[in-house]
Amino acid sequence: MKYLDEYRDHRIVRALAAEIAQCTTRPWVLMEICGGQTHTIMRYGLDDLLPRNIEIVHGPGCPVCVTPLETVDKAIALSMLPEVILVSYGDMLRVPGSHSDLFRAKAQGADVRVAYSPMEAVKIARANPDHKVVFLSIGFETTAPANAMAAWQARREDLTNFSMLVSHVLVPPAIRALMVSRSNRVQGFIAPGHVCTVVGCKDYEFLVRDFRVPIVVGGFEPVDILEAVFMLVKQLEAGEAKLENQYVRSVSYQGNLPAQKVVAEVFEVADQKWRGIGPIPQSGLRLRKEYADYDADRIFDLGEITVDEPAECISAQVLQGLKKPTDCPVFGMRCTPENPLGAPMVSTEGACAAYYHYRRHALVHSGD
Ligand code: SF4
Repeated sequence: MKYLDEYRDHRIVRALAAEIAQCTTRPWVLMEICGGQTHTIMRYGLDDLLPRNIEIVHGPGCPVCVTPLETVDKAIALSMLPEVILVSYGDMLRVPGSHSDLFRAKAQGADVRVAYSPMEAVKIARANPDHKVVFLSIGFETTAPANAMAAWQARREDLTNFSMLVSHVLVPPAIRALMVSRSNRVQGFIAPGHVCTVVGCKDYEFLVRDFRVPIVVGGFEPVDILEAVFMLVKQLEAGEAKLENQYVRSVSYQGNLPAQKVVAEVFEVADQKWRGIGPIPQSGLRLRKEYADYDADRIFDLGEITVDEPAECISAQVLQGLKKPTDCPVFGMRCTPENPLGAPMVSTEGACAAYYHYRRHALVHSGD
């Protein structure tokens, strides 16, 4: 297939769903990791096309959703400093911290700017030598190369008024944490295609080897996702555990080596707290000591910020595939995209927002 509409062709989608149904003999629980894949599953109702004994649960692959509350609170605190220009991707502005969000900080006079690329933040720093420009550097392996390039460029130019508040997360250690959890129900994973475009399939081999769990790297269109499900079900039914690549048009075994090089030059692997999940060993990135002068955490003394999630938000269980958004008692009532209580309701990639936008809440509240 060559064209996008072919990957959305309902005849191919239905044929794949029929093949999956034919080869499924018992219940399987599969998890898609990436928020983009969650979005596609909800948008096209792919889970409804699958046989009843295949359950799709949604993983922690929305970068906004897993950014710790503490990071959001720190970004808000930094934005309120008179000398600071806080630059962020647009999605982060509405993410609720413990008391406020960056939109409200902006309304209160903070200089908060939206960027589509981290190099825009470098440009803002260049144009505003009297200000300290802080870029909120978040995301998975997908955004790490561009964010690393921003720090690399700032260092190359010796820009002294640019820094980054870093909260980067890595997918394979999160899958490992899910697999070692006593409550894990997941028997097969659709790995995130965009992440693997950068890091390649190779980073997932240890998971298949150590946990004997099938993993298929999948794309983001309906045909991609059902094909990945089909590949997983065939492995599970045959008692196999292999790493396979459905998204061959984008992902190679080695990944993007120049991108990996710049990430390795700027960042190093570190322990990381995930919102809703907690700390996961060696699951994040932090700036290397050579880039300490660009580390907002070191430059600004904000003290220790620790906060708790809102008690009624069950995002921890949603992000680990233990519950569905519709299991949350406040879903679609006290928690909506307009008034999100937790991060999975904020981002378009969040599982709660995807369920809400594609009217899964209507089914719940009508009792169907
Ligand atoms: S619906 Fe809202 S409160 Fe419930 S888990 Fe999702 S984000 Fe949290």
